[in-house]
Amino acid sequence: MAGDKTRVLTIGGPRDLREYTETLTEPEPGRVIVDVTYTGICATDVHGYTDGSMLPPAVFGHEWTGRLSAIGDGVPNLQVGQRVVGGVGPACGTCAQCVAGHARHCDTVFAEANGIDEEAPEHGAFAGRIQVSPRRVLPVPDALSDIEAALVEPAAVTFHAVRRVAAELGVIVVVQGAGPIGLLTAQHARNAGAGLVLISEPSVRRRDVATMLGFKHVVAPEALESVVHDTSHGRGADVVYECAGVASLLQPSAELVRRGGTLALLGYPLQKSTVSSADWQSRELTIIGSLAYNHDDFVGVMNLIAARRLDVEVLHTGTVGLTWLRDTLEELDSGHSRHAKVLVSPLN
Ligand SMILES: [Zn+2]
Ligand SMILES: [Zn+2]
Repeated sequence: MAGDKTRVLTIGGPRDLREYTETLTEPEPGRVIVDVTYTGICATDVHGYTDGSMLPPAVFGHEWTGRLSAIGDGVPNLQVGQRVVGGVGPACGTCAQCVAGHARHCDTVFAEANGIDEEAPEHGAFAGRIQVSPRRVLPVPDALSDIEAALVEPAAVTFHAVRRVAAELGVIVVVQGAGPIGLLTAQHARNAGAGLVLISEPSVRRRDVATMLGFKHVVAPEALESVVHDTSHGRGADVVYECAGVASLLQPSAELVRRGGTLALLGYPLQKSTVSSADWQSRELTIIGSLAYNHDDFVGVMNLIAARRLDVEVLHTGTVGLTWLRDTLEELDSGHSRHAKVLVSPLN
């Protein structure tokens, strides 16, 4: 209810979580207030927590779902009580990119996705309640559970990448890494008509999850090169999705791609890397960079989940209260966590 105090957790510095309480009363005109149900912890949140300075405040806790608890003046088409997920708005039509006809690369949407738009919330959703622009809320279909709704954002990130690659039917795809991003990418690639999806992952537990999802070629990284070689008769993969975000893996990943194939970059290495651009050039690789998403990626992903053609719940390995956020971020950073996707429930 408006007027209640709500807890908010933000980043103060390296490994420094700051907690404060906020009283969100009535929403400002043109804003809505969301009572947060769940917020997923993403690798970006973990990096932001350990680094202390890289994330805009709105991005720390960006994978959220909740219910609209209040709607400001001048906001059409939304109702109090409606379930929503946090996303980005449609192309704005007025920025430099839109005006030039490049609506899929709208500057406003890019800024929203990065939490740096003029209407960005003051903090992310490691909080009981947040106030956002109505552009940022998408209604959730009844067919989705709250947990599924909380997993829509990473599903949209990966959906965006697979759409950008737009591979032919029947291709051989490699997915590097079977964390949440890899497992979602692999499912999208399968839905997009890949002939063969090879998944490489060091963790046995994560490999088991991939197998449970019906993938038949799930291997340890040491075995990947020979499996790619054998299944492609020595050509290499048509598409490699690099989902691990490890700088030193970029060139080895590129070397798994066949001449004329595609390397898609989803993982976000924080260090610079050394690659052989002469190799990429001479073998005519197509490099697809992918960051964040468009509005329709959210719509598409929710349709797929509702149609039971995308399993997001399999990623969910635990739910913690806000009080446990610090410990959970430390655990996820340790590299020894059993978790894939942890959700934070601010009510606990
Ligand atoms: Zn994320
Ligand atoms: Zn625009």
